[in-house]
Amino acid sequence: MSPTVVDVLILGAGAAGLCCAKTAGARGRRVLVLDHAPQPGRKILIAGGGKCNFTNRAVRREHYLSANPRFCVSALAQYSAADFVAWIEAHQIACEERTAGQLFTCHGAAQIVQALLHDCERAGVRIMLGTNLERIEQQADFVAHTAQGVIHAARVVVATGGLAYPQCGATALGYKLAAQFGLPIIATHPGLAPLRVREPERTHLAALSGIAVRAQLASARHAFCDELLFTHHGLSGPAALQVSSYWQPGQALMVNLLPDLDLARELALRRDAYMPLAQWLARHLPRRVAQTVCDLHALPIKPLAQFSRADMTRVVAALQHWQLTPEATLGYDLAEVTVGGVDTAAVSSKTMEARAVPGLFFAGEVLDVTGQLGGYNLQWAWSSGFVAGQHV
Ligand SMILES: Cc1cc2nc3c(=O)[nH]c(=O)nc-3n(C[C@H](O)[C@H](O)[C@H](O)COP(=O)(O)OP(=O)(O)OC[C@H]3O[C@@H](n4cnc5c(N)ncnc54)[C@H](O)[C@@H]3O)c2cc1C
Repeated sequence: MSPTVVDVLILGAGAAGLCCAKTAGARGRRVLVLDHAPQPGRKILIAGGGKCNFTNRAVRREHYLSANPRFCVSALAQYSAADFVAWIEAHQIACEERTAGQLFTCHGAAQIVQALLHDCERAGVRIMLGTNLERIEQQADFVAHTAQGVIHAARVVVATGGLAYPQCGATALGYKLAAQFGLPIIATHPGLAPLRVREPERTHLAALSGIAVRAQLASARHAFCDELLFTHHGLSGPAALQVSSYWQPGQALMVNLLPDLDLARELALRRDAYMPLAQWLARHLPRRVAQTVCDLHALPIKPLAQFSRADMTRVVAALQHWQLTPEATLGYDLAEVTVGGVDTAAVSSKTMEARAVPGLFFAGEVLDVTGQLGGYNLQWAWSSGFVAGQHV
């Protein structure tokens, strides 16, 4: 079988790979996209509960975690959220803005995948699905070996994503290729992942499974105020997912279940109240949550009027400065992203090309750039994919 010869071989038909492919194809490059999955863009399809939170109105570098916080700036400027929104509008994909600038499709993520595939087809991009890469080596050009044959390419773009959600095709291929070509890796861990708490908290919180409250969760340096969902394992919902990306095993989180209330002042004003604490708290929290917090922290059950100053301090500590040390995240199986990845120090932020390996590019989540919740991860995939596509 004679080898396939292309200008650009893109590994991964996800968000970054497809955006890169349509960009490079539109520049006249002969592009082949290879993916082991049977379907392209599977994470795009499940993103945002199927509606795909494809970007955010306010994308800033502060929304990203990376050993080099400035790395993302150039790509996000070269292809911004406004550029992606313009592309969405050009494809007549209806979208809606939800809280905090988050943009979603109105009629489902499949429209975005279809539009990407449409642009790829128009640009003459070939997509090989269900194809495993056996090995790749660099001779005069890059030579990729697959069960379906050998591919020669002048440029290779690694857009194979991270380790999160292996049920959508995630593998460590990108990190293995980086290591093969001598690029360092920043240690990875699951991000935007639910948290499992220890006993005795786990049993108490499991009884609240399905109940959500507005709360603030803080790690040593980052605090998120959003919906907190109690689960059988402990904590989930946006506040827990956000803080999980910054959490290190062994660290305590600070939980504030009443972030919008001056609890110390309110308690002081209620010193004539003859109702028990849990009953009064039920004005501010779901009744079962109020009762569980009282039980868990063994808070006084006497009427508020009989509370000493020390009692009040304990109540404020339990509700607004609750130190909770999670046991673990629920791991890559349930994480939305991978924190860490290919060290950006080894990659040009202007082109996404590996500094020491001309012709080898990286784009998307495989790099050590991880967005917060809110459309930032897909925007990074679009931006870095576009930049790689412009420079291959
Ligand atoms: C449940 C869930 C919901 C999410 N929701 C959102 C959201 O609403 N908004 C947002 O911004 N982000 C969201 N994300 C994160 C976002 O989907 C990813 O950050 C983004 O898809 C990363 O794009 P990528 O192209 O780098 O990687 P991916 O989209 O993961 O694509 C990588 C591709 O490489 C292929 N691949 C992997 N290994 C191999 C191999 N060995 N051989 C060949 N091909 C391989 C995969 O099959 C895949 O097609 C969500 C993630 C999950 C899991």
